[in-house]
Amino acid sequence: MQQVNWAKLSPAEQQQALARNPMVSAEGLADVVAGIIAKVREQGDAALLELGRQFDSAELSALTPSEDDWAAAEQIPSALKAAIEQAIANIRSFHAAQRLSPMALETQPGVRCELRVEAIDKVGLYVPGGSAPLISTVLMLAVPAQIAQCRQVVLTTPAPIDPAILYAAKACGVTQVIAAGGAQAVAALAYGTESVAKVDKIFGPGNRFVTEAKRQVSQDAAGAAIDMPAGPSEVLVIADASANPAFVASDLLSQAEHGEDSQVILVSDSQTLIDSAQVEIASQLSQLPRKAIAEQALAQSRSILVDDLAQAVQVSNAYAPEHLIIQTQLDQSVLAQVRAAGSVFVGPYTPESVGDYASGTNHVLPTYGFSKTVSSLSLADFQRRFTVQSLSAQGLQNLGECVMTLADAEGLDAHKNAVAIRLASLQQTVESQ
Ligand code: NAD
Repeated sequence: MQQVNWAKLSPAEQQQALARNPMVSAEGLADVVAGIIAKVREQGDAALLELGRQFDSAELSALTPSEDDWAAAEQIPSALKAAIEQAIANIRSFHAAQRLSPMALETQPGVRCELRVEAIDKVGLYVPGGSAPLISTVLMLAVPAQIAQCRQVVLTTPAPIDPAILYAAKACGVTQVIAAGGAQAVAALAYGTESVAKVDKIFGPGNRFVTEAKRQVSQDAAGAAIDMPAGPSEVLVIADASANPAFVASDLLSQAEHGEDSQVILVSDSQTLIDSAQVEIASQLSQLPRKAIAEQALAQSRSILVDDLAQAVQVSNAYAPEHLIIQTQLDQSVLAQVRAAGSVFVGPYTPESVGDYASGTNHVLPTYGFSKTVSSLSLADFQRRFTVQSLSAQGLQNLGECVMTLADAEGLDAHKNAVAIRLASLQQTVESQ
């Protein structure tokens, strides 16, 4: 990790210290992804099979799991089944509690307005699998889709599909599973192929190819909506001298091991803590099977020495991390100053891993600094809200003059007439009685 002293940096250097991992927006990425999307639109399943062979070394005869695959899913260890069920229960509790109550009221006598909520009919769930089968992502996407009662839930993940992914998909009511990953899977969900049902909205995190594909299909009216830019993982840890350096190092490494394009940042007002965290990182890193990946991510990461915790939060707000971990003596006062973060982990006993898997919060979170404006995934993302209004005759009589005056001011005579014609009809009815 590079080390910098915030107060000694120029504004341009400060900006540079908070820059994202350059791999995330590598040159030529948009063209590569556009080529893959075009290929899937032209060749459908054949393209998915060919690109699966090319990028995932997958020799598939079909894109959907076989009966043997589903049978293998039932054979996963019982401890893993129990962990999946416990995580589902917590994620379900937290997301079911997000249900909105139907809302209806009279804004004035005879003028009734409603806000209704319906599920998005067809959703596509992207579950990363390039370097690790993210069983937890199945739960984070499929549980809210199930609570929202989406009618069709199509899950794609790179081949070969881990049996636990299939077990989790079945447990959460997924209706179709497809063995395809990367930009090609996103294209298949957005446009449909012989085997893959076209969906209305695509959810899920992924590497830079997946994230760029989601961006591209969401800009095409014939494509699909997307949840958010949820790209390569990031964590920022704010720690003071009271923090346990081993805990801090373990949190930084748990993000660094996600992928070589991940980014981790440590912000502290204590040089001693930064130094001891570095020592711990070196020691814990040597034990990790994914050491090589974590090392590459760490090379694009940094520790930042700040004057005090207030400045630490300013740095964090400017970076707008996907995950923010706070391990200080003043956790609640630091939390109160947070303006931008996808999900926050407070206190020494809240490793990021609990939110990644099973506390109940969603782990699909905005990256690239989008946490300034984009929220973490929630039940609402699987629903659409729409309004209903219905006026009684008296309601229109009460509101008509207001609407006609505004329509007149805008020069929209047909709008005005739509009210006037009804008021005249009501007047005639009254006179004929
Ligand atoms: P992935 O499934 O996202 O990507 C694998 C696919 O990438 C492959 O199937 C392949 O099709 C494609 N690919 C690989 N190399 C390619 C190339 N050279 N050209 C074209 N396509 C290529 O799995 P992953 O790579 O393990 O990445 C998972 C990502 O998800 C990580 O970056 C992780 O940090 C991120 N993540 C983010 C969140 C979030 O909420 N933001 C949550 C979990 C994971």
